[in-house]
Amino acid sequence: MENRIYNFSAGPCTLPNEVMLEAQKDFYSYKGQGLSVMEMSHRSKTYDEIIVSAEKDLRTLLNISDDYSVMFLQGGATLQFSMVALNLMPPNNKADYINTGAWSKKAITEAKRVGEVNIAATSEGKNFNYIPKQDAFNLTPGASYVHYTSNNTIFGTGFKTEPEVGDVPLVCDASSDILSKPIDVNKYGLIYAGAQKNMGPAGAVLVIVKKSLLERSPNELHTYLNYNTHASKGSMYNTPPTYTIYIMGLVYKWLLRNGGLDAMQKVNEAKAKLLYDAIDNSDGYYKGAAAIEDRSLMNVTFNLANEELEKKIIAEATAKGFSGLKGHRSVGGLRASIYNAFPTTGVEALVKFMTDFKSNN
Ligand SMILES: *Cc1c(COP(=O)(O)O)cnc(C)c1O
Repeated sequence: MENRIYNFSAGPCTLPNEVMLEAQKDFYSYKGQGLSVMEMSHRSKTYDEIIVSAEKDLRTLLNISDDYSVMFLQGGATLQFSMVALNLMPPNNKADYINTGAWSKKAITEAKRVGEVNIAATSEGKNFNYIPKQDAFNLTPGASYVHYTSNNTIFGTGFKTEPEVGDVPLVCDASSDILSKPIDVNKYGLIYAGAQKNMGPAGAVLVIVKKSLLERSPNELHTYLNYNTHASKGSMYNTPPTYTIYIMGLVYKWLLRNGGLDAMQKVNEAKAKLLYDAIDNSDGYYKGAAAIEDRSLMNVTFNLANEELEKKIIAEATAKGFSGLKGHRSVGGLRASIYNAFPTTGVEALVKFMTDFKSNN
């Protein structure tokens, strides 16, 4: 592998080497057919096989039943902030939101344009450094749904288990931890996730929705914003982001080859432990930003004693080929995003670098 750096970017982020090389092999002429996936009609037989097998492999990975529709849409997770509310809030027009960070807040802003939003719990008072606990949730009986963000990319916190919401459909923004561990899809009404953190390049958002909820979408919705449009057309109402979906499909095959989500979870837990242990065993030199019990396995956020030292370590790290470690401006410090495709060797190398930096500074 020539000239590859360790890319800790929060997204778009590192993709599996095997996937990159396979895509490279087929880039110019897909399986000898004389054209690139980028150049072929989305209505062609070849492309149909690509998108159908991507969906099939995803269904296998997450054990998704026929009660659910799977869609590859555009507009990122961000458009889902609106589409979820527009499609699922009616007819009651009230929904519960758990506010655990910047992305939750953006979802709340859009939902408020559609109906009544109850903030069932929030950790904003402590700059989102923890996940509110179940007994603190103030859930509304008869709410259209409960929305939460399973992993908070910016703050480095994550839910260890789904909120318990009774019969109310659970809606999850799983953008930054989808496919990082097994989940029981049957617990959810809807799951959405932008592709560019754990599934592929930017350009697509995955939506998994319980078919029975599709009855809620009002007829007067704009065609493109109505889930039924996409569900009934196999994500082919208009031209889908063909190349992104192709790479997502390769990532799904890579996951299946490597033991699926159980295996992925083990690797992710081991990788995160390496880094959190390095932080916790540094005699306070490095300080984890999130409450220990709510730490994310995907985004490890931490600080040093002062901003000057943080600037210094980021500069030295960058020079050594560790890229994307600067924390989001709302948290400061450092953030190491170690999604599925991020190699264990990269985490080990960062830990060694952090140990050396500490001795020298
Ligand atoms: C990155 C991210 C988003 C935004 O995704 P886009 O695809 O850029 O719209 C939303 N939610 C979470 C949790 C994210 O990490």
